[in-house]
Amino acid sequence: MTVTTTDWETVIGLEVHAELRTETKLFCCCRNSFGEEPNVNVCPVCLGLPGSLPVLNRVAVEYAMRIGTALHCRVQSSIFHRKNYFYPDMPKDYQISQYDIPINAEGWLDLPGGRRVQIERAHMEEDTGKSTHVGGGGRIHEATYSLVDYNRAGVPLVEIVSAPDMRSAEEARAYVDELRSILVATGASDGKMEEGSLRVDANVSVRAKGDGQFGTRCEIKNMNSLRSLGRAIEYEAERQVALITDGGSVAQETRHWDESAGRTGTMRSKEEAYDYRYFPEPDLVPVEPSDEWIASVAASLPRLPAQRRSEIAAASGMGVESESVVTVVRLGLDGYVDAVIASGAGERGTAIAVRRLANEVAAEIGSAAHLTEPAFCRLIAMESDGSLTTAQARTVLRELLDNGGEPDAIAARLGFEAMEAGDLEAVVDQVISAHPDEWSRYVAGEAKLAGFFMNHIKAATEGKADMKAASALLRSRSA
Ligand code: ADP
Ligand code: MG
Ligand code: ZN
Repeated sequence: MTVTTTDWETVIGLEVHAELRTETKLFCCCRNSFGEEPNVNVCPVCLGLPGSLPVLNRVAVEYAMRIGTALHCRVQSSIFHRKNYFYPDMPKDYQISQYDIPINAEGWLDLPGGRRVQIERAHMEEDTGKSTHVGGGGRIHEATYSLVDYNRAGVPLVEIVSAPDMRSAEEARAYVDELRSILVATGASDGKMEEGSLRVDANVSVRAKGDGQFGTRCEIKNMNSLRSLGRAIEYEAERQVALITDGGSVAQETRHWDESAGRTGTMRSKEEAYDYRYFPEPDLVPVEPSDEWIASVAASLPRLPAQRRSEIAAASGMGVESESVVTVVRLGLDGYVDAVIASGAGERGTAIAVRRLANEVAAEIGSAAHLTEPAFCRLIAMESDGSLTTAQARTVLRELLDNGGEPDAIAARLGFEAMEAGDLEAVVDQVISAHPDEWSRYVAGEAKLAGFFMNHIKAATEGKADMKAASALLRSRSA
């Protein structure tokens, strides 16, 4: 499709489902864990057997409150509803969710670039099980048979619903990225998109630029990376623009993103709220957190990504929007920066640390486990006092990331330590012959000229020379 979208504006609202990192499920004592044998974490409650009753998990409520507080929501008393629909991976045939009175309402999130996205709500609900359709490319209508795993049924989720405030695929990605960092920082979710702990549905509509009203939206499901989220939104916006410019109109529907084909396709026409026959869950009482509990959750929140960025920006002299600062915080490498600051590195050393983390360490995030904070601090000290050049520091860091170890020992092994004695002698002789006048005055007894020569030796060796050895050489040459 080659439609020009310059006169059109894309409008995006996101619904993000985050699985909570609780030990157990939302309404029973089954374990909440990923990647186990199918159907081992099940019981009468999460299998929806007759006569079983749900009991609310207090930790899940606390995690939901943490998320709401971090998103500047009003944390309030709430109730659960039954949302009725038939799905083979949902054993009760209804999902316990929150509807008109969610635990968190009306918050906001600032993107690193500065734009504010309003949050409509962040409510609690239970996850469904997981079906696998065998044969026919994994789609249900072409499958020979389907398998179902209920380990995930009843796992606690918080669904974070944004206002339709985003205007490009890039902004939508930045929003999910920032939201993921916030979720991870609160400790409420691990934010792993690749394991399905973070799932994003995108509502997309288009309108002519300057139009005050929103167009009809489609909801896109099944994007399991930031990359597919971006691609899906771009595809969908172009599809809608093409439809409208061809004289057609957009039908409100739920669409499926096909990653390999690179397009969205109709999944089902959009359900309305009345399709779900919502009614209050009669087996659960309202959730009424006390003011003390709400306050203690707020007080226990760690520093959040936006605050971390401004702290690191201030300590390093870099901008809050600097790509390196954003990356370091997004990848959770900010602990290393704290350690470097605490080691007394100062602004210049902190900036070097941020660059090393955003470049070398970020590229090797999986192996960062080998890199201890003391080793990193020492490496940064060596780079900032000039005992290692940038290129040498990078090589030592590579080794620290791959195998761990001690920077001084690695630098020595790689021959990055002080200069070879012979090289130093050559430099000293060059400096002497380049300044014959000063040299004869020094030899004649003008001792303060020693500093003059030492400075030249330091400069000529880019600070790598052992200055004690250099001064001894200078004296031996004048004798
Ligand atoms: P539903 O309950 O049917 O999913 P909501 O009104 O709760 O509908 O909205 C769901 C999501 O759709 C929200 O994230 C919201 O921002 C987004 N949204 C609503 N209208 C539009 C629109 N015209 N274009 C893009 N997104 C929209
Ligand atoms: Mg919805
Ligand atoms: Zn259970």
